[in-house]
Amino acid sequence: MRFAYDDDNIFARILRGDIPCKTVLETEHSLAFEDISAQAPVHVLVIPKGPYVSYDHFARDASDAEILDFNRAVARLCEQCDLEDGFRAITNARAHGHQEVPHFHMHLLGGRPLGRLLERS
Ligand code: 5GP
Repeated sequence: MRFAYDDDNIFARILRGDIPCKTVLETEHSLAFEDISAQAPVHVLVIPKGPYVSYDHFARDASDAEILDFNRAVARLCEQCDLEDGFRAITNARAHGHQEVPHFHMHLLGGRPLGRLLERS
């Protein structure tokens, strides 16, 4: 698979400081900030600072240090955001995943019961 990264996507602009965000956690390789349209009491987006389009792109091409940093950031967020009662981590990719922003991000949702993952059809 070829991944073409768009430098003008909204999260790239957040990383450059062109657009403000409410930072929850920043590490060497990752940034976590509040989703602008929260779907739950806790709705944080975790992104790598590197130019990865989607989870499969990140998992394939990111360095070990970036992957470790990202996952440790998620663990820290679970503590920092009081998610001991549970959470949902979602990452959407491409058209079938309904990805709107083409910079890999993980939604971390919690703070209330979230129901089933998908409606049965
Ligand atoms: P996706 O559908 O790509 O998985 O999710 C993109 C998420 O980015 C959405 O939940 C949307 O609310 C969030 N989002 C879009 N634009 C902005 C923005 O400018 N700032 C922040 N903080 N979140 C954004």
